[in-house]
Amino acid sequence: MTHVRIEASRCPQNHFCPVIRVCPAGAISQKNPFSAPEIDHEKCTSCGLCSRYCGYGAFRKD
Ligand code: SF4
Repeated sequence: MTHVRIEASRCPQNHFCPVIRVCPAGAISQKNPFSAPEIDHEKCTSCGLCSRYCGYGAFRKD
C-alpha cells in the first residue's frame, strides 16, 4: 500500500497548511502555522490528494 509522509524540510513552516482542508479523511493536522503538518496514519487512506496539492512537495508518496 502506498504510504504518504511529510518531508518537513520541504515545508517553509510559515503559514497555515492549506492542504488540511483538502484531505477527505481529515487526516492532516498542524500544531501551529510555524510547524510542518502531520498525518494521522490511522485515518489516511493514501488517496494521494495532498501530494498533488502541496506546491512545495512536502507530502511525499513512497
Ligand atoms: S493521502 Fe489522502 S487521506 Fe492521506 S493525508 Fe493525503 S489527502 Fe489525506
